[in-house]
Amino acid sequence: MLVTREFYFDSTHHLTKYYGKCERVHGHTYKLEVTLSGKVHENGMLIDFTILKRLVNKHVLEKLDHYDLNEFFENPTAENIIVWIWDQLKDLKSKLMEELNDPNLSEELKKYLNAGDTAHIEGNEFDNELKLHELKLWEGEGKFITYRGES
Ligand SMILES: [Zn+2]
Repeated sequence: MLVTREFYFDSTHHLTKYYGKCERVHGHTYKLEVTLSGKVHENGMLIDFTILKRLVNKHVLEKLDHYDLNEFFENPTAENIIVWIWDQLKDLKSKLMEELNDPNLSEELKKYLNAGDTAHIEGNEFDNELKLHELKLWEGEGKFITYRGES
């Protein structure tokens, strides 16, 4: 199953390897879709939407929203930004460790997080399958990039 949440952030940028109006400083309202895949847990959820929101806010939006993206990226195209966002979120396990105290984190995920490096819990058939599945990044309306971790 797939779970998706939408996010928005506003940033300025200019493209450094481009000839035309995008080489001048301008802004966008970016829309980001984060999709996780996995299986539904005993609490009836793949992951709580609120936990997903907190992860994305902390690891992505707080670093990009209302910033000049050229402070962080040599050439902030949507392609370069989405690869960076993927890198921020791909290690979901370490990010979820920070959410261990949330009562809406499923018991299965807590067991997985407490199990160290092994996802297979002894005496339990549970195998964590929660993964970052896909990102979509809109640079204004009608223009977006899809990324699944490939090159
Ligand atoms: Zn632009």
